[in-house]
Amino acid sequence: MSIRSADYTPIDRGFDSGPCACCGTKWVNYQERMTHARLAGPPRSNLKICSKCYEAAKRAEAASFRMLPGMVNPALMTRISADLGKCRLCNTQRAVWKDPGSGIAICETCYQHLSQDEGARGGVSGDGGF
Ligand SMILES: [Zn+2]
Ligand SMILES: [Zn+2]
Repeated sequence: MSIRSADYTPIDRGFDSGPCACCGTKWVNYQERMTHARLAGPPRSNLKICSKCYEAAKRAEAASFRMLPGMVNPALMTRISADLGKCRLCNTQRAVWKDPGSGIAICETCYQHLSQDEGARGGVSGDGGF
């Protein structure tokens, strides 16, 4: 399951008995906030997650923020057959493309997304604001 760290808040006394909704570990450190979306929906109890899963979610979010489209140019990326580790953007698939300038490596799926974004930007006529 995917976790948005912003939806979670530290448990007052530091920890609680789990299981973690994400990895199933015994002790948890964060619980789900009461958001407007949750208030609108049918009542259910808070999901609880451990600090490990919370930190992992934060890291994944930070990585994707750093990789906002435009920071890497897919046209300059080169396909690498060596092991580049996991994709810096989605952090799930194996990276096969590398940006020579930044050294950022991404997977085929993210590369396709970036290429499409790049192509779409040419004909953008402004979003008109709100
Ligand atoms: Zn966990
Ligand atoms: Zn990816």
